Amino acid sequence: MSKQLIVALSKGRILQETLPLLADAGIAPLEDLGKSRKLLFDTNLADVKLVVIRAVDVPTYVQLGAADLGVAGKDVLLEHGAEGLYEPLDLEIARCRLMTAGVTGAEPARARRRVATKFVNVARGYYAELGIQAEVIKLYGAMELAPLMNLADEIVDIVDTGNTLRANGMEPRELIAHISTRLVVNKAAMTMKHERLKPLIERLRSAVVARRGETTTS
Ligand code: AMP
Repeated sequence: MSKQLIVALSKGRILQETLPLLADAGIAPLEDLGKSRKLLFDTNLADVKLVVIRAVDVPTYVQLGAADLGVAGKDVLLEHGAEGLYEPLDLEIARCRLMTAGVTGAEPARARRRVATKFVNVARGYYAELGIQAEVIKLYGAMELAPLMNLADEIVDIVDTGNTLRANGMEPRELIAHISTRLVVNKAAMTMKHERLKPLIERLRSAVVARRGETTTS
């Protein structure tokens, strides 16, 4: 195994919240991630590198050991499954909810329900547990369009403010899971690189705990 610690970061919304948390933990990229087309970055810590990849790819990189650590939404982790991963820390950022949603005022279909989502595994498990027959349709984006276009009766998607749903004539229905961003660690690396991983995880944990203090006193 290489001496470097590779941390896989989720691009986009989560990245904007991850970078200040990393900075609080004393980990800073040597160049501006937003301004570069590079994907692999050195940091102020000689043995720590960052890779910036699509959120859905983070669990794969960490599971297969291409990255030692990863920062990923619980939604992505639930969908991917946890095999080969430890999840030692809730980073308490990018909080949202994974919910079912449908057209405002419409009764949920009673018979076989058509459900559009990118979270097909989560959705299948959720409806099966409730004993609801569901035909789960995989989409890669713009889930809110599916009921409007009569592609589905319901969607399973991330809800934060609910504005996206409202703007498309939809409303949230049932909560599936509260979501936040988690630190994940490759299981083999946790053993083989424990000496170097442990202090890094502890720095992040301290940064998370310090922020908690700030939010309760302000
Ligand atoms: P909102 O309109 O505030 O309810 O935001 C909903 C949309 O923003 C969803 O369709 C998601 O794609 C995205 N979103 C909001 N929060 C998050 C998050 N924490 N992680 C990933 N996507 C999010």
